[in-house]
Amino acid sequence: MSFKALKLNRPILRAIAEAGYDNPTLVQEKTIPLILEKQDVIASAQTGTGKTAAFALPILQQLYDRQDAPKKGKTVKALVVSPTRELAVQIAEDFAKYSTHTNLTSTVVFGGTALEPQKEALKGGVDILIATPGRLLDLHKQDIINLDHIETLVLDEADLMLDMGFIDDVKKLVRLCPKTKQTLLFSATIPYKVEQLAQEILKEPKRVEVSQNSSTSKNVSQQLYFVPKPDKIELCLHLLRNTIKGHIIIFRRTKYGVDKLYQSLLKNGFSVESLHGDRSQTERHEALKSFKKKKVDILVATDVAARGLDVDSLDAVINFDLPNIPETYVHRIGRTARAGQIGIAYSFCSADEKTYLLDIQKLIHLQLDVVEDHPYPLDPKAKKEVHTSNKTGSKHKKGRKSEGSKKKKKRWY
Ligand code: AMP
Repeated sequence: MSFKALKLNRPILRAIAEAGYDNPTLVQEKTIPLILEKQDVIASAQTGTGKTAAFALPILQQLYDRQDAPKKGKTVKALVVSPTRELAVQIAEDFAKYSTHTNLTSTVVFGGTALEPQKEALKGGVDILIATPGRLLDLHKQDIINLDHIETLVLDEADLMLDMGFIDDVKKLVRLCPKTKQTLLFSATIPYKVEQLAQEILKEPKRVEVSQNSSTSKNVSQQLYFVPKPDKIELCLHLLRNTIKGHIIIFRRTKYGVDKLYQSLLKNGFSVESLHGDRSQTERHEALKSFKKKKVDILVATDVAARGLDVDSLDAVINFDLPNIPETYVHRIGRTARAGQIGIAYSFCSADEKTYLLDIQKLIHLQLDVVEDHPYPLDPKAKKEVHTSNKTGSKHKKGRKSEGSKKKKKRWY
């Protein structure tokens, strides 16, 4: 199928051609016609499948068709809600790219930065607003924006939004928009709580499922290193010096862990940046910018970077710590091998992380390839224990439980 067959307008087709897209991806092929028919949609698609354009293109098309309608003061016509600031910025960049040959306007607002410039940008209203939930509600409370004329509401990465404790904010936002709006819910996975939310807020939604929940891309080779915890840093340095080359993201579970590894890599002469929730918004922005522009080779990050971030030709992901939520593993390694490219995911597993490993392998229905030949092997007894319990499956869901109930706790990423 071609983009032309999707009946998109000429200025949008021109922008798509300039972006270098030849044909729509599967999620775009399935979703765009439904959105243009004004249906509510719940879509689950693996990260990197082109889901941003799947909602951005038809939204732009609909607004472009009705551009002659007069703008009213502080109104917004389409609202995209995203859980993290980085994702919000990325979505806004995509909207700007696809609308370049129209005179539709878009802007992005998120917390952690000054309110004034955002107030200024919203003064005369805007066609498309991309926002994180907290700042959006704040601006609404201050009467800076009016959501009474929203025609389309997009909830992106809905599962992460709920994991991050935004459920009440999301429901509030839905209530602030008119009943007649079209609602589109995008989620990498559709766990029960997302399904429940969908039932509550969507009207006879059409379902789009592009890949199985929790599957990993065939283009990522997944390698596992058993290693004692204190030796992880040495193994990491060894691999970075001898094996892993190029543009790399290293994931750690905690902000403290990120800072520590960042300092070690810096001391050892690597070109590196770091990203976590305790850094200021400016620092986060600058770190990501210089990594995306390839000014540095390595980004050490918490899972704040695991979702949706689109980095051109990322060569590898290192799971320095295994994530305690198995779905996070899928998101982390989905940062590489995007848009049909290939990539490698290296995972370090110490003896205390064996339940995490078991949960991950159970989720993805795959045994990771174990690399035996490296200088920092785990004590054979500890390793054997992991292999043995692997056959029986994990009964420990400790990590997931604590994640689900962390709504009021300070996030560790
Ligand atoms: P997303 O899943 O929205 O983060 O998109 C992943 C990547 O795919 C981004 O770099 C997009 O620019 C790219 N992309 C989106 N749609 C297409 C398409 N139809 N053809 C090629 N690349 C695309």
